[in-house]
Amino acid sequence: MRYFIGNWKMFGVPKSIKIIDKINFFVRRDKNRNKYRVIITPPLTLLGSFAKHCKGKAINIGAQNCFDKDLFSSNTGAVSPYMIKKSGSKFIIIGHSDNRLEGDNNLILKNKVKFALKNNLKVIFCIGENKKQKKNKKTFITLKQQLSKVLEKKFNKQNLIIAYEPIWSIGTGTIPSGEDLLNNTVFIKNTLKKIFNSKKTPPVLYGGSVGSDNIGKFSKIKIIDGFLIGGASKSSKKFIDIIKNYYR
Ligand code: PEP
Repeated sequence: MRYFIGNWKMFGVPKSIKIIDKINFFVRRDKNRNKYRVIITPPLTLLGSFAKHCKGKAINIGAQNCFDKDLFSSNTGAVSPYMIKKSGSKFIIIGHSDNRLEGDNNLILKNKVKFALKNNLKVIFCIGENKKQKKNKKTFITLKQQLSKVLEKKFNKQNLIIAYEPIWSIGTGTIPSGEDLLNNTVFIKNTLKKIFNSKKTPPVLYGGSVGSDNIGKFSKIKIIDGFLIGGASKSSKKFIDIIKNYYR
């Protein structure tokens, strides 16, 4: 199974549902539709209405982040995994580099993942090295720490998806070489095998400047289980073209 996940970030108003309807129209008729799942993560303001609209459709809805408490609390402006689950969303992104830059550390992330899993959300956990770490050949150690300091063997790996997103690639148009991407994905899968003491790992996706023009390169690396797509997911045409070109 492949995943095409759209991260809308701070984008979207009620009428943006048209984008999802167009993607759904394509997926429903696509001959490859049984080979992949599409998940779109709109902002919190749209979660409930979009999840209701997408019930029974080919698109799943997810959140982009949550607060690190389970149920209800006195934190102004915060939204818990429980509230996200009750909005009808099935997925949640946790650990995006945007949120790590805003202060999400490993302890906060561990709690977010734990509470999201407890509420039966499927967690898309993001990891990735920055430019300096890459330059100093610290990619493996960074990825290993990001995984091992947050994930625990007792976590339900069936509900986990890992998204490898090199920070220097997000929104820049620069993508890793095929060799680096293959090596890093193998490294992530081997690390996951050790954490979960299992041969079967959660799916590992790639994210960072994925577009219809470069998806052909990524599609050759079969070990990559799918893609987390930022900028290009805000246009139904660009998103659909990514799926079409992946299976070309
Ligand atoms: C992202 O923000 O998760 C992302 C991958 O963005 P982009 O595709 O625009 O690089």
